[in-house]
Amino acid sequence: MIELQKVTLTFPDGDRRITAIDDVSLRGEDGFVTGITGPSGSGKSSILAVAATLIRPDSGGVLITDGDNGVIDAAQLSRTEAARLRRDRIGIVFQQSNLIPALTVREQLRVMSRLGGRRQRGSSGKLAEDARIDELLEAVGLIAHANKRPHQLSGGQRQRVAIARGLVHSPEVLLVDEPTSALDQEKGAEIMELIARLTHEFGTATLLVTHDLVHRDSLDSLVTVVDGRIREFTPSAASSAVR
Ligand code: ADP
Ligand code: MG
Repeated sequence: MIELQKVTLTFPDGDRRITAIDDVSLRGEDGFVTGITGPSGSGKSSILAVAATLIRPDSGGVLITDGDNGVIDAAQLSRTEAARLRRDRIGIVFQQSNLIPALTVREQLRVMSRLGGRRQRGSSGKLAEDARIDELLEAVGLIAHANKRPHQLSGGQRQRVAIARGLVHSPEVLLVDEPTSALDQEKGAEIMELIARLTHEFGTATLLVTHDLVHRDSLDSLVTVVDGRIREFTPSAASSAVR
């Protein structure tokens, strides 16, 4: 579960400040894709950056399920603690897939896996790591391409690698920003359906930003943001915004 509670975020703008997020509260439930939409500049990416603990809000809380620690407020963590939480609990998929050109598909996932703190050491840990990577490559339909490098893949395939990489640590929360913007409509629909399927299968609380509602069917609920504020909320059965 991830919940933003009354989050406000401002950025310096000359001698005043602009409000990117204005008192936003929303919740992403486990196993559901919560869509966030709105015009360009409305604060969608800022909301994801706060949810990802990459930016600390001016005020408000960011509640995230953190294993045995229960639900913690990420907005109160030190930088080191936030980095640990991000590494263990949060998967992030950006607009561009940001793959490392020299690495194969399998290596992209292995590098991410080894950054982790929860990894078991020794040969049994390595077996578990390899099994997890194979499971994810199967799940995103890339097992046959595991030894290819990014330049040998299509845009849609690269985005699949980025999604698998985001899930390596079995995160509680998956944050996805405009995953289809570099793809044609058909490939975009496949990526959206894939994210929905993996969210349901792995039970992640997924927040997905999109300005394009052609893929609305893949979202379980939808929050519309205008000028940093929640304008509209269309719920699903189990996902809800709190105001
Ligand atoms: P969206 O993703 O919906 O297009 P953003 O969250 O990127 O919107 O931006 C919301 C507002 O915050 C915009 O006015 C944008 O110019 C501003 N903004 C975003 N990031 C920064 C930053 N790092 N510094 C200053 N202003 C920013
Ligand atoms: Mg954006």
